[in-house]
Amino acid sequence: MPRATTWLRLVVAASFLAALAGCASAPRVAPQRSALAHWSPSPNFNARKAQVIVLHHTSIGDAEASLRVLKTRNSQGEVSAHYLIEMDGRIDQLVDDGERAWHAGASRWGDMTDLNSSSIGIEIDNDGHSPFTQPQIDALVRLLADLTTRLGIPRTAVVGHGDIAPGRKDDPSVLFPWGTLARYGFGLWFDTPLTPAPPGFDSLAAMRLVGYDVSNPRAAIIAFHRHYRAMETDTLDETDAAILYSLQRKLMAPSQ
Ligand SMILES: [Zn+2]
Repeated sequence: MPRATTWLRLVVAASFLAALAGCASAPRVAPQRSALAHWSPSPNFNARKAQVIVLHHTSIGDAEASLRVLKTRNSQGEVSAHYLIEMDGRIDQLVDDGERAWHAGASRWGDMTDLNSSSIGIEIDNDGHSPFTQPQIDALVRLLADLTTRLGIPRTAVVGHGDIAPGRKDDPSVLFPWGTLARYGFGLWFDTPLTPAPPGFDSLAAMRLVGYDVSNPRAAIIAFHRHYRAMETDTLDETDAAILYSLQRKLMAPSQ
């Protein structure tokens, strides 16, 4: 039965080719995207795994202008972020969670020296001088819950661009409500009422433990104040010591 054999061979070969084509077109890993966001891809990224979430304000203009810049370049070069949160709380996703977006630049947090390789970047549409909108904060809280759950990022590992690049970056601005975010369980925050730090407590060493690069102490203190005191002064006081004492005890406590 030569004709039937030929037909059978053709079917087998076709199935094999179809399987190969299936393999070739299948993604390397499943896309990691938020169901809360509108997929609006930027071509500017590399592969990596996230351990931290970095928050920014755009100070670009409006969301449309921000989306355009985050898919092309700014005056410094090509830039992107994983997410943009618009004024009305709409969330755009520009880069897959599994890929490395280009939002942090020269940066350090703890032992991490290239935050683009280890973080999710979230831009918030804001001019740097105005309060963040309630819909933006609501959307951010929902997105942080989604990201920390899906990607296994610790809920405390949420920082600002200004925290990881002291002296170079100051976003999100001093108006960003870190305390509100903490009440939702995101970011490292101190317990109240504050307990005075013991005599001889080393505030700078505690800042280093939290993650700050203290090689330029003045810049690090301003970044710490912006985040924890909603001010941008450059000298440490007893309240700072008490806050850092609380943060240090939380970081040193055995995990439960
Ligand atoms: Zn930034």
